Amino acid sequence: MRLTQRAHRALEQHVSVGDVVVDATVGNGHDTVTLAALVGPSGHVFGFDIQQQAIDATARRVATAQFQERVTLLHQSHDTLITTLARAGVSSVKAVVFNLGYLPGSDKSVTTTTISTQNALDQSLSLIGESGLLCIMAYRGHPAGRIEFDMIEQWTAGLLRTSQWQCERNAANNDGPVLYCVSSGAANLR
Ligand code: SAM
Repeated sequence: MRLTQRAHRALEQHVSVGDVVVDATVGNGHDTVTLAALVGPSGHVFGFDIQQQAIDATARRVATAQFQERVTLLHQSHDTLITTLARAGVSSVKAVVFNLGYLPGSDKSVTTTTISTQNALDQSLSLIGESGLLCIMAYRGHPAGRIEFDMIEQWTAGLLRTSQWQCERNAANNDGPVLYCVSSGAANLR
């Protein structure tokens, strides 16, 4: 099974109709539309991206699926996650999805970066709490991606040193993408 399929499978298992979720890197909108289908008309997706081109591409994809009412697209960095959602009256979410790296078919110099990604990941943990899921797809095959991947390896190792979180890690091959699915360890403690 491809890692993107595996991520979507994990989201299907966690996300229900009516949930509020976040796509932290909308890119071309594939994950946004998948999430919007899962939350249904009574749920909501907040999508972030720093590139107008990504916001526009995602808006088109969302419109084609007729999901505009359940999606809010934000042309801003995901490290504004908590303050932005607080302004919308949201203090917890069922899932946060990160698909790191650069926008496919676009300027490869605009990519997610270690500091803002780590900041946004920390914010995501407080938003998902005990019942949510955090999915991170990291790409270690390009130089900036390798640095970000190293950070995520350390970040998830730190989580696993506590009993508060668990992390399922799946890798395609030595240099290929890595999928991390982080959720509360509370289930294992009971
Ligand atoms: N999930 C997308 C999809 O389904 O098409 C693909 C995402 S693409 C690999 C990564 C995206 O992250 C790019 O569109 C890039 O502009 C965006 N990005 C980079 N830095 C960001 C940041 N600080 N906050 C939000 N998005 C960012």
